[in-house]
Amino acid sequence: MLERCGPLEPRAVAIAASRGCVVVEDVVAPADLPGFASSAMDGFAVRSADVAVAGPDTPVVLEVVETVMAGRPPTHTVGPRQAIRIMTGAPVPDGADAVVPVEATRPSAGERDHDETVAILVRAEPGQHLRGAGDDVGAGTVVVPAGTFVTAPLVGVLAAIGAVTVRVVPRPRVGVISTGDELVAAPRGLERGQIHDSNRPMLLAAVAEAGAFPVDLGWVRDSPDAVAAALRSGATRCDMLLTSGGVSMGEADVVKMVLDRMVDPEWIQIALRPAKPFALATVDGVPLLGLPGNPVSALVSFEVLARPALRRMAGRGDLDRPTVTARATEALSRRPDGKLHLLRVRLARSDDGTWSVTPVAAQGSHQLVATASANGLALVADGDGIPAGGPVEVMVLDAAGALHTHRS
Ligand code: AMP
Ligand code: MG
Repeated sequence: MLERCGPLEPRAVAIAASRGCVVVEDVVAPADLPGFASSAMDGFAVRSADVAVAGPDTPVVLEVVETVMAGRPPTHTVGPRQAIRIMTGAPVPDGADAVVPVEATRPSAGERDHDETVAILVRAEPGQHLRGAGDDVGAGTVVVPAGTFVTAPLVGVLAAIGAVTVRVVPRPRVGVISTGDELVAAPRGLERGQIHDSNRPMLLAAVAEAGAFPVDLGWVRDSPDAVAAALRSGATRCDMLLTSGGVSMGEADVVKMVLDRMVDPEWIQIALRPAKPFALATVDGVPLLGLPGNPVSALVSFEVLARPALRRMAGRGDLDRPTVTARATEALSRRPDGKLHLLRVRLARSDDGTWSVTPVAAQGSHQLVATASANGLALVADGDGIPAGGPVEVMVLDAAGALHTHRS
């Protein structure tokens, strides 16, 4: 499946749109950053030698020859016994080698025009409160290596070096289709036997959460022609298709029927519980992942199968959720059946830094409300389960939430 879902063709995007994408080539700073020496404080640019003896009781009075604001180059140089009033970020005038913060000065006493002179009340080391050119990064340095995932701070870095666009793997467009004659979208009322379509909104949200671009391809009834048409049209505008329902062994398993007719699907029965039925196919060059209809199964198969695949399409190396080893607060019992069981659990971190897990109350593959309270999937290997207090590996679905649970 991962082989069929290789990284998409890179393209240049505006830096503001690059967050959440993987950069495909090294980004180099074309010039020193910052590009010029500037003041780190609001104060006075001075010659440090002039104020070597300055102190609270031995003020040194300097002539103020100019005021420089950020964004304006100074027009004077600082000569002996002179100062230039300077704001944070303004270029350091020639002649000055230090800045004295405004808090360490006062208008000099006894002068007729206070604006013309300043009393310096502390000594200044050479270089004090100056930011040197290139002291964030030097010209020619790689600031964003190829393969980096763009975060908000990196968007800031790209902007700071003057980049307008950056070459990235684009976000995969992932089309989501629901199948099933029983499905109805609210606010339409339900007849007996009908249910609300929960998978499609849920999977669209999960796609977005995984960093891809969700495309709502709607609901199709259990008609082979309708399903085939929806898949073909979805394939023209998506990089991946996700369906839910219609891939198990029932009479109306229409996704399965259609794929058999249309393409050369791989029917995969996966040794997972929940999430056993699964289909993998390529529709007009686009990978299709047929997820099971039961909402909990759909969610779990999205997590363990679809999410890694779409992250690979997005050029990411970190495909899987992180795992931690946790202590089971109660027995996680099961029978041997040849499958890996993925229990929906609450994962919590204790004050000593260890993790514990408790299964959510309902584990049925239709019981979505209980599932939604889980922040982890406990991986319970084939066998008789984990005794209370025993260790179990847990896929962390909501790391931030799990880190907070011990406080709530
Ligand atoms: P199927 O695999 O199509 O037989 O569906 C298995 C179960 O999942 C049935 O109970 C369906 O009603 C239910 N189901 C299928 N699709 C959805 C959906 N989009 N939202 C909620 N439940 C669904
Ligand atoms: Mg169905």
